[in-house]
Amino acid sequence: MANDQDYYDILNVGRNASDDEIKTAFRNLARKYHPDINKDPGAEDKFKEINEAYQVLSDPDKRAAYDRYGKAGVSGMGNGFDYTQVDLSDILGDLFGFGGFGGFGSQSRQRNSPRRGSDLQTTVTLQFEEACFGADKEIQFSRDEKCTRCQATGAEPGTSPVKCSQCNGTGEIKTNRQTMFGSMVQVSTCPVCNGRGETISTPCTQCHGRRYEHKTVKKVVAIPAGVDTGTRIRLSGEGQPGENNGPTGDLYVDIRVNPHKYFRRKDFDIQLDMNINIAQASLGDDIDVPTIDGTEKMKIPAGTQPGKIFTLKGKGIPFLRGNGRGDQKVIINVAVPNSLTAEQRDLLEQLAETMGTDVTPQDKSFWDRLKESLNG
Ligand SMILES: [Zn+2]
Ligand SMILES: [Zn+2]
Repeated sequence: MANDQDYYDILNVGRNASDDEIKTAFRNLARKYHPDINKDPGAEDKFKEINEAYQVLSDPDKRAAYDRYGKAGVSGMGNGFDYTQVDLSDILGDLFGFGGFGGFGSQSRQRNSPRRGSDLQTTVTLQFEEACFGADKEIQFSRDEKCTRCQATGAEPGTSPVKCSQCNGTGEIKTNRQTMFGSMVQVSTCPVCNGRGETISTPCTQCHGRRYEHKTVKKVVAIPAGVDTGTRIRLSGEGQPGENNGPTGDLYVDIRVNPHKYFRRKDFDIQLDMNINIAQASLGDDIDVPTIDGTEKMKIPAGTQPGKIFTLKGKGIPFLRGNGRGDQKVIINVAVPNSLTAEQRDLLEQLAETMGTDVTPQDKSFWDRLKESLNG
């Protein structure tokens, strides 16, 4: 070859370039100068140079010989450059992106190969209790379904798709080409049947030959106990149909839970604020506490302070995975009456007299104590 340019310069990489760097450089240049893409008169020669440089630098033995002795070092190796040995589809097959150049074999085969259908997503809204205990919920979403009239053949019943005469049913067009690499078989997708190998003469009247119809699907989903806003349920195989017998995609159901009037959720615990009056706080009482299982009796000891938290073990939310449940935390608020009857005022005044007027500072704030107990 007349050009004596250094291989590293041709690929525009440093002498210490890694194998990956060399490969990337080659691919970028090949994309630019491949004769199928670049019709400039000089492109083919340039491509040969690039390819020659790559054949040497991508082979550790040849690269070592080249580094020590230059081109003389590699001229005896492997009889120079036999381009017919270059598996172009292997090197270039992934160069052209999707659907760019239908040129190389590997690409057109991909077009015909099974492809998984895409995933779909929908959202379901639950009441607080439904999230706690699970529920069967009807969801609604749209996807493509096989046309019921033609059974996804695209052909009107009574007629059948016929073998494509252009490609003789293979879906591929093969062309022999003489190139600088020798004789190459170029495989491309048949333009008549789009690679399907068959054509439809009488399209189905329901789907107009599209084989699928966009349909609204209703489905009852068993939502497990313990889900929360943000929980995602995967329904395998409920997404879009695959192509060329590829598998169906999945459907993802995202959960949203409406807030409850009283209950708040923290992980798998439930928090509930309960108002008791000053007499109950001072003297103690047995009170009725709402839980997600119904009303529970709970003992308030005498002298219960505002912000006191009682735990109802196992009255929280069932764990989403595994057995058991969280707890219910009952946060006590001592409600001070807004208005008093004459009798209550009389009694409180008597009480006030016995209690005196001493006040004391408190060492920790109400909120600090509350935070400590809830996080502890
Ligand atoms: Zn149809
Ligand atoms: Zn065809």
